[in-house]
Amino acid sequence: MKIIEAPSPNQNKRRYPVDMLVLHYTGMEDGPSALERMRDEKAQVSAHYMVDVDGVIYQLVPEDMRAWHAGVSNWQGDGDLNSRSVGIEIVNGGHNVKLSDGSLQPYSRVQIEAVIELSRAIIERHKIPLNRVVGHSDIAPDRKDDPGEHFPWEEFAARGVGFWPERPDEGELTKLSEKDAPLKLGAKGKGVTGLQEDLQAIGYPIEVSGAFDEQTEKVVMAFQRRWNQGDVSGVVDPLTFELIRRVAALAYPSSAGGDI
Ligand SMILES: [Zn+2]
Repeated sequence: MKIIEAPSPNQNKRRYPVDMLVLHYTGMEDGPSALERMRDEKAQVSAHYMVDVDGVIYQLVPEDMRAWHAGVSNWQGDGDLNSRSVGIEIVNGGHNVKLSDGSLQPYSRVQIEAVIELSRAIIERHKIPLNRVVGHSDIAPDRKDDPGEHFPWEEFAARGVGFWPERPDEGELTKLSEKDAPLKLGAKGKGVTGLQEDLQAIGYPIEVSGAFDEQTEKVVMAFQRRWNQGDVSGVVDPLTFELIRRVAALAYPSSAGGDI
């Protein structure tokens, strides 16, 4: 793994040990401009690493220091995630710099290989639990879209970075009850409460209110960007509903019905 030192002044002391990994895209034109911004004292942002499209890894902040990448965010009830995490910025235009046909710029193969290798080393070094490997949009669903619905989370999970639920067959999908359907903005009831409880169990910052409000819609979209990437609608159909249930069970295996 080739790592180039590129120190950033935007760092300070951690308040907690590392037990999270946060993945981002830069959302800028190219690698050099993102690197310049993260090394500019006035910008007040940084990350521990930046991985460029050619697979070259830059280290901006040592892992034992607190880099400034997560902002106001929360996961599994924890705040100050900059103090708890290692942050990787992956060079990609994302939703800010789209291709000329309006689509999201794909991540490059060498870049993905480099991010997987780097992530595995970080997870191993700090014994990071797989339910604490997150995207920026997971921990700040009200403001962030990165690393985006084009990020290959399924491959990452298959290679030990995060986890991925088995996709249900059509026949395994629970019909949403008449009373609760459709589960989207404005819905109320037990179905919404259960959904919010599952999303909270996964780690999402969400209030359990029984009302499908704007915060719920944003969290559902964050969930879909990660685990149901073909449908980032914020509407919970039977497939999204079942995937939320399955991810909640994977995040907390003990709640899925005992063990031997
Ligand atoms: Zn980010």
